[in-house]
Amino acid sequence: MLIWRAMNDMLPTNDWLYQHRLCLDAACPWGCNQAESAIHVFGNCTFMTRIRAEIERMNIHFNPNSNNLQDLLLDKMTISMRSAK
Ligand SMILES: [Zn+2]
Repeated sequence: MLIWRAMNDMLPTNDWLYQHRLCLDAACPWGCNQAESAIHVFGNCTFMTRIRAEIERMNIHFNPNSNNLQDLLLDKMTISMRSAK
């Protein structure tokens, strides 16, 4: 669902909110000096690049059916709890 939203320009990024007159600043909140668009978040955002690298280091792989990061992490926690038994 997250990927579908990104591909259909339906993620509520600051750039999307700005274009729909729902916020006053399209900038990335992580200080990249670029508009926070879906392309920026999944492409060249320095903060998100560091987050993705850390997630990969933790051996967490994205489930394309996850709706958001919370669902993804809950799936990982459930798997970890099952394997600890
Ligand atoms: Zn950024």
